[in-house]
Amino acid sequence: MGLAVAIIGSGPAAFYTAASLIAAAPDCGIDIIERLPTPFGLIRYGVAPDHEHTKNVMKAYSRTALSPQVRFFGNVEVGLHLSLDELRTMYDAVVLAVGAARDRPLGVPGDDKQGVIGSASFVGWYNGHPDFTDLAPNLATKGVVIVGQGNVAIDIARVLAKTPAEMARFDLCDHAAAAIDASPVADIYMVGRRGPIEAKFTNVELREMGHLENCNPVVEAGQLPATVEGEMSDRDRRMKDKNLASLRSFAETPPDPAKKKRIHFAFYAAPVEVLGGATVEGIRFERTKVEGGNAVGTGQFFEIPCGLVVAAIGYRSATVKDTPFDERQGVVKNDDGRVAPGLYAVGWIKRGPTGVIGTNKVDGEHCAEQVVADLKPTGKAGRPALEALLRQRKVRAISFADWQTIERAEIANARPGAPRRKFPRVADMLAVLEEARAAAS
Ligand code: NAP
Repeated sequence: MGLAVAIIGSGPAAFYTAASLIAAAPDCGIDIIERLPTPFGLIRYGVAPDHEHTKNVMKAYSRTALSPQVRFFGNVEVGLHLSLDELRTMYDAVVLAVGAARDRPLGVPGDDKQGVIGSASFVGWYNGHPDFTDLAPNLATKGVVIVGQGNVAIDIARVLAKTPAEMARFDLCDHAAAAIDASPVADIYMVGRRGPIEAKFTNVELREMGHLENCNPVVEAGQLPATVEGEMSDRDRRMKDKNLASLRSFAETPPDPAKKKRIHFAFYAAPVEVLGGATVEGIRFERTKVEGGNAVGTGQFFEIPCGLVVAAIGYRSATVKDTPFDERQGVVKNDDGRVAPGLYAVGWIKRGPTGVIGTNKVDGEHCAEQVVADLKPTGKAGRPALEALLRQRKVRAISFADWQTIERAEIANARPGAPRRKFPRVADMLAVLEEARAAAS
């Protein structure tokens, strides 16, 4: 009998770890435990709906899930149905791959007003994450301010700006599509506390903003430096040069009067206060300059009226009980992935929410190497012990075959040309399985 490994979470870090473990120790047993009935984490609920090509990796993850060594246990929540400590008594190794699904607070007065939403919640809402189906963001407003200039901010701006026709081929959730379509949103501000060179978005994503059907990108030419200065790698410099060229072309291209929406790229502005009563009416910024790479306030302030503020300032991980959790950094304390004997962290819970999907592949390979180097099978029961505990606690675990039944229903329900129509509620997913069971009996 080989190593018994439990992986908590089923996003990219989880699947790359599982695939690497299968390669490194083909006799191991790997159980992937996921809170939702659906696998793939950030790929399903984080990647923008109109970036369907990015989701192709789900095919590779499915092949891993269908490997004889692997079992998927969806709808099982560690911390609710069983504890991490219980899991550690059953498995030789437990790998935390729970990602960073929480929002970081904006941290300015008024950030608790109705109408201030974090990017994890907002993205979850338009992507059909069951936790955010009832979010109801205030889109009955002409102005939306997105704080932050990373790729998540760009995703949000683009989803708000695209027309129903531009979104028709994708799986934007019905509730979000209807709300965005009915919304009077005309001005979307993407505000960065530093300058165009420091902005975190990548060029493919930025360039896309110049090709939207009903939206003009707006940039003040005076905010753009003449050249990219400062210490950085050649790769980064090439990217920054391209970003500057794209922004310059936005600034120089006269707006198309037929396009009704605008995305304003605003630099050198740090949020200082969200304005309004119980609900958001605007946001005040302090003008900044960049010194030594940092945003420094200039003492000049301005306001942008808006009914919705989306803080796209990076994610953080939820506290994981029974681990040494670093509340300030929002990650589990670890030594290059090792948390405690037999306990590992991989992906965003290990190193914070940065990098692209492929970064987790390297992480997963590294984690698998550590598990195999550190541990020998000790005869822990692993899967049978987990199954017995879940039976005893009457937890309805979702198998990968169950998930495939849900997936088939999502594909069958899709709008013509769209890849799937997600069920935004867990109860509806479980109902699909009940119907399938009734039809088969
Ligand atoms: P991110 O890239 O770290 O960007 C966060 C943005 O928020 C930065 O502009 C940052 O400014 C700003 N910010 C942070 N704290 C702030 C504060 N207190 N006040 C004002 N601004 C603040 O994070 P992300 O956009 O959430 O993306 C997470 C990761 O996923 C990134 O690695 C990203 O590339 C990746 N991703 C990739 C894609 C894609 O490839 N298409 C799509 C989505 C996400 P500073 O720079 O000044 O800190």
